[in-house]
Amino acid sequence: MSSPSGRFDRAMANPLRASVMYPPDRALFAPFRIDVPVEETLSEAASPLDLYAHIPFCETKCTYCDYETVPVSRYTERYVAALARELHAVADALPRGTEVAGFDVGGGTPGVLSSGEFETLIRAVDLRFALAPEFEISTETTPTLAAADPAKWRRIAAAGVARVSMGVQTTSDDELRRFNRAPHTADRARRGMDALRAAGFPIVNVDLMFALPGQTAESWEASLEEAFSLAPDVITIYDTVYKNRGIATQAGVAGDAPTPDRYGRLYDAAYSRLTGAGYRSRYGSVNFSRVPGRLGTSRYLEARILDGRDYAGVGLYASSLVHDTWRFGLRRFDAWLAADGALAAESLYRLPIRHGMAKFVLLALSYGYLDAARFERRFGVPLSNVFAEELDLLTTRGLFSAADDGWELTPGSFRQLPGIRGLFYPEDALELLDLPVVRGREGATTPRTAGSLRRS
Ligand code: SF4
Repeated sequence: MSSPSGRFDRAMANPLRASVMYPPDRALFAPFRIDVPVEETLSEAASPLDLYAHIPFCETKCTYCDYETVPVSRYTERYVAALARELHAVADALPRGTEVAGFDVGGGTPGVLSSGEFETLIRAVDLRFALAPEFEISTETTPTLAAADPAKWRRIAAAGVARVSMGVQTTSDDELRRFNRAPHTADRARRGMDALRAAGFPIVNVDLMFALPGQTAESWEASLEEAFSLAPDVITIYDTVYKNRGIATQAGVAGDAPTPDRYGRLYDAAYSRLTGAGYRSRYGSVNFSRVPGRLGTSRYLEARILDGRDYAGVGLYASSLVHDTWRFGLRRFDAWLAADGALAAESLYRLPIRHGMAKFVLLALSYGYLDAARFERRFGVPLSNVFAEELDLLTTRGLFSAADDGWELTPGSFRQLPGIRGLFYPEDALELLDLPVVRGREGATTPRTAGSLRRS
């Protein structure tokens, strides 16, 4: 059994490996694969649950992205029709009366859909699911798509979408060009924001990325100022390790591998600027909110991450987590289309509880804290019992402090986040922390996990 400090040091020695993604390599879960009908897994879902529809289409491929994406094509309409059928199939498989608290139309770039295609998906949910009183719909777009068609966004807002995230990522022309995002200029971000505001979305979010290869402190601050000037309700900042490993690999190739110290400095600069300007955030959280009573994400995403609420994903390689059963939809686009909305799985895993806890803790840390009561409700054991030594080490080193609701990251601790994450790894996952980050390993091409990341 390794010591907590040994685990911490091991993760800090290979920090790109200890991202928020758990497991860092899905080969780890090979022994936990199961082969049961998808319907059987959904029949165990708790109420309420969340729905996620994956739209894999993108206008171009950003160089840092290793998510499953598909070029925009003539298949979009057929894809959406099959998605609607898959939603019907999910409704048939759930226990009677299961309520749905949230519907996330994510991607990829869901903004490529027409308003009619959004309406098709929303109609399928309205028709087939009991909606919880707090039911909310959210989606994402690029600045270019937001700016291109204000009337379309008015119709999407009128169809009931309450929240839209615009993936600005950076406003530096040079960085946009290098990452194959040249069309998404600062000017389009401004016009996109105007269009989304005029459409009447109650919450508009802007996403930025930091520690991009070659990004300087000055260009990061310029992007922050530009985003700030758009006055979004929420600003979400993703470090590139948080995003995925693709960028980490690229950065390594370019001889510009981001270090935890660099992530920490850039995060701290943003934290100080945004909280100083009236955005609320717990230190370590990636979300900065001006919405009263909201942490920055949708309520249903918060419940999914901090309560471990079940969610069911539909679409290409979309993930679902129902209690301890983790499922991925079919991965090949032609195979997925041929299934025509029938429930199918590329892979299904039954996660041992200790691995479920690691996933839970790593995601919760993106809100800057671990909620003791919510952890105990989810797993039936106190957080302080399961992770007594780990919490003790973190508080002794001044990286965690006790809070009313659990434990929170302390100011400055962001630069030691890989070590903090590695501490919560189960023993049988530790060797993954030592492996080099290599593009193309199993799991290195990342499925879209419902609501895990926003990056269009
Ligand atoms: S970062 Fe977003 S827009 Fe770019 S390729 Fe990936 S999913 Fe598409």
